[in-house]
Amino acid sequence: MSDKIYSLSKTSFLKFDQCQKAFFLYKNHPYLRDKISVDKQLTFKRGHDVGFYAQQLFPGGIDVSKETKNVAQAAELTKQLIQNQTSVIYEATFVFNGVLVMIDILCLNDGIYTAYEIKSSLKVSEVYLKDAYLQYYVIKNNLPQLDDLFLVTLNQDYLMEEQTDPKKLFKRRSTKQKALENFSFFEHKINEAYQLLEQNAIPNIAIGKQCFRPYQCDFFGSCWKDVLHEKSIFNLPLVDKNKLFEWYDSGLRSMEQIEDSLIEKENNIVIKNALLNNRIFSRAEIIKQFVEKIKLPVAAMDMEIWNPAIPQIKGTGPFEQIPFLVCFYNGSNNPHFFAEHQSDQRRQFAEELCVLSESYASILVYDKTMEVAVIEMLAKKHPEFSEQLAALKNKLVDVFELILNVDYYHPAFKNNFSLKSVSGVLLSDVSYNQIGSGLEAMNYFDQYRAAEVGEQKEELKQQLISYCHTDCLATFGLFEFFSSEFSN
Ligand code: SF4
Repeated sequence: MSDKIYSLSKTSFLKFDQCQKAFFLYKNHPYLRDKISVDKQLTFKRGHDVGFYAQQLFPGGIDVSKETKNVAQAAELTKQLIQNQTSVIYEATFVFNGVLVMIDILCLNDGIYTAYEIKSSLKVSEVYLKDAYLQYYVIKNNLPQLDDLFLVTLNQDYLMEEQTDPKKLFKRRSTKQKALENFSFFEHKINEAYQLLEQNAIPNIAIGKQCFRPYQCDFFGSCWKDVLHEKSIFNLPLVDKNKLFEWYDSGLRSMEQIEDSLIEKENNIVIKNALLNNRIFSRAEIIKQFVEKIKLPVAAMDMEIWNPAIPQIKGTGPFEQIPFLVCFYNGSNNPHFFAEHQSDQRRQFAEELCVLSESYASILVYDKTMEVAVIEMLAKKHPEFSEQLAALKNKLVDVFELILNVDYYHPAFKNNFSLKSVSGVLLSDVSYNQIGSGLEAMNYFDQYRAAEVGEQKEELKQQLISYCHTDCLATFGLFEFFSSEFSN
């Protein structure tokens, strides 16, 4: 049986809606797509895991994707299951007007089917709605007795009790009314998409804001490769995208063409000139004052957090930030605290955090946003430590401020101000291990919690500690760099 019973999928349709060129390339030149980043893969995995978990809302269903080998078989089996009035179907597959959709859950109640599309998110976005309206259009044209299609998201007010309760963890939103109003829109758009495919020529579409909305396009690397030359205006950091496209649309391509008078913010002028002249910029007096306000003894601190979409420990909600590792570095010592959180160890974490930070007068961090949020959460949850945690918060000194405020700018930073990038330019003795981001660290922690006690589990833990320590070393190294370069 042929698998080619459809021409458009939900993904390709959403691409068409973002940019006709992206759609055409996706259909005809998929090899031009950018490589999927590890963070993106992990986000997909999380979506899949939440979708699988949500099947517990309607347990005991038949999973069409597991019973079939291709789309044609899946659509045929779905038809048979509906004819047999199967009460719960997972990944039910439909094709209408050449558009393929697979709905997470289809459920029969009093002879009427209702569809549920699961999203691993706390909020309903415009893209989710459009995606749901398209699914409704395709399913309703196959299954006239379809009642509604609910978008199911995670409930931000939910707190886990002894067990996670799927009925309380998820909340749902009806899309039926708006979906029905959008039928003619989809008819029209789908016809447009087919016409474009028939023309068989890559649409002549210039780069624009659509390349980033609603998501960065998969063909970014291919379309932007000539735009992003060394002196491209798009390599200017901290300039608003609207302004960049305003310049681009008026024919300005290179930083050299951007007069200072066109730039509103002083810091953006500074960066542009530093990049054009390949010269370091610094505000020596401000950096000196910054270094002088740091009291000794000093240490750098870094935390790792875990925010599982589906709560794993009692008293926490979806995506709640749970700290599992904190490291310090004072130039010689590397103390840390690691919480496995098989049960809630946040009280212990707060206690250890207070003990480890107590002896320092200043604590260096790089972008304190997350650390401050964690300290405030711990103080709220365990008020017995609130005084010590408030003292810790007052000791924080954010080295990132020097970079973000452009008190120091090295042209090699380009437009990347992450700790990894900045320390890579300014320090010679910091090298990161295989964990590349906070999201990857969370994935390591998930694997660590699931692993049996043994060598592999210990290796995962050591990788996490090493990653966190490296951030501490880098932060402390930046402090030493600025101290040696800018204090008398
Ligand atoms: S990068 Fe921009 S112009 Fe190119 S296909 Fe994607 S959205 Fe369209």
